[in-house]
Amino acid sequence: MLSFEHRYATLPEPLWVASQATPVEHPELIAFNAPLAYELGAQDIPDATTLAEWFSGNQLPPGAQPGALGYAGHQFGNFVPQLGDGRALLLGEVVDQNGVRRDVQLKGSGRTPFSRGGDGRSPLGPVLREYLVSEFMAAMGIPTTRALAAVTTGERVVRQLPEPGAVFTRVATSHIRVGTFQFIAARRDEAALKALADHVIERHYPDAAAAEDPYMALLEAVVARQAVLIARWMSIGFIHGVMNTDNTSIAGETIDYGPCAFMEQFDPQKVFSSIDEGRRYAFANQPTIAQWNLARFAETLLPLMHAEGDALVAQATDAIRRFQPLFDTEQRRLHAKKLGLEAENDQAVPLMEGLESQMHQGRMDMTATFDALTQYAASSSDENREALLALTLNPEALGEWLSQWQAAQVASQNAERLAAMRQANPIIIPRNHRVQEVINAAIEGDFAPFHTLLAVVTKPFDDSVEARRLAAPATESEQVLRTFC
Ligand code: AMP
Ligand code: MG
Ligand code: MG
Repeated sequence: MLSFEHRYATLPEPLWVASQATPVEHPELIAFNAPLAYELGAQDIPDATTLAEWFSGNQLPPGAQPGALGYAGHQFGNFVPQLGDGRALLLGEVVDQNGVRRDVQLKGSGRTPFSRGGDGRSPLGPVLREYLVSEFMAAMGIPTTRALAAVTTGERVVRQLPEPGAVFTRVATSHIRVGTFQFIAARRDEAALKALADHVIERHYPDAAAAEDPYMALLEAVVARQAVLIARWMSIGFIHGVMNTDNTSIAGETIDYGPCAFMEQFDPQKVFSSIDEGRRYAFANQPTIAQWNLARFAETLLPLMHAEGDALVAQATDAIRRFQPLFDTEQRRLHAKKLGLEAENDQAVPLMEGLESQMHQGRMDMTATFDALTQYAASSSDENREALLALTLNPEALGEWLSQWQAAQVASQNAERLAAMRQANPIIIPRNHRVQEVINAAIEGDFAPFHTLLAVVTKPFDDSVEARRLAAPATESEQVLRTFC
């Protein structure tokens, strides 16, 4: 079905280590992303039984050559020199219809040479969450790994309680992380480091090859992609939850959906992840953490960079400091879009700060607020105004903010700008309580709610009765405030 190639496997040994999947008892296909398969060059798609065999790891799809990837990482700030794929297998790469090389990887397919304590498996819940959230992010146009397949194993995995097991197949423009560079740098293997950096430049940043110092250009390019990525996350309230350096993609994609979640009531200090006790990866900390992770990346590249001594440190520091202005520029652009303003409108930032403070103090749901604002921009009826004011505990203060917004929003009837505003403000996000509801049903063997939610969150701007039902914020008793990986 897919034409696999294996370029990463030719890199020095600890970066790619041959490894086999451990067969599962009774694989059954939950979902297969046919449009994505076609994008990857598939001509025909086999039946569900074959897909279940392939994407559980029971049989290799033709041409696959499975291997686990080595990487290190700072986990919650502490350096671990060897992590690696403890439960994932790269089947190979395919060159997609746009000529982009992409990795196809199984997750939850059993132990590998890099497994430490773990069982190499994945429970059903996180597989469904990753499927829903990554496909939602893709629908929002946010760089992300994609979901190709999900399969139940017919086996149980033991976490807090025994749960059905599953295998997830993910597609990434690569699985190379900041932690991949840290892994090689910690081994002080400069030849391998250069091979890795050259592979990344050729694969992801070909323009850097022509720069005076390609490795400095590589750092600058990765900084730019991460700055844009984090600004996009924040524009829809995404909280990654585990921004360790091993979960920071060199290609600038969202990767490793563990205890991630979307902010509902606006709160900059929001954390969902049960393992983030220090609140290191709180919503508002994400740009600072990304920049910290990029500084760790820069450190690994120093031996390859051309400058020396103080000049080297100064150049690398400058490259990392570029994160903030790049982030600010992207954020300003997104703020303007979300508020329905012209890109150049200098009121975008102060107005957004004002609205954030309204959302925070008025305990407003972020997605519902921007959706209601979008509807109000499209038609400034009393009804739409009341619907927006009903979202806050402080309608009077929000009313004052609305007057400022309306004063700044010259030509609110501009169709192009209204369309842009809609595209920046989804009607629906995969809300925690809905994701949990879908998981609970799936554990009982009912996958229909999963398919319904998937269909709706992958068309996040389409209005329908079903979308509105699934988009509604959780009531107090429905709220899910903790997420697990
Ligand atoms: P993560 O928190 O998903 O970024 O994973 C951190 C590390 O733990 C990676 O090396 C994973 O491969 C490994 N890991 C996570 N869960 C398991 C598991 N069930 N079995 C083996 N290794 C695991
Ligand atoms: Mg990870
Ligand atoms: Mg993970």
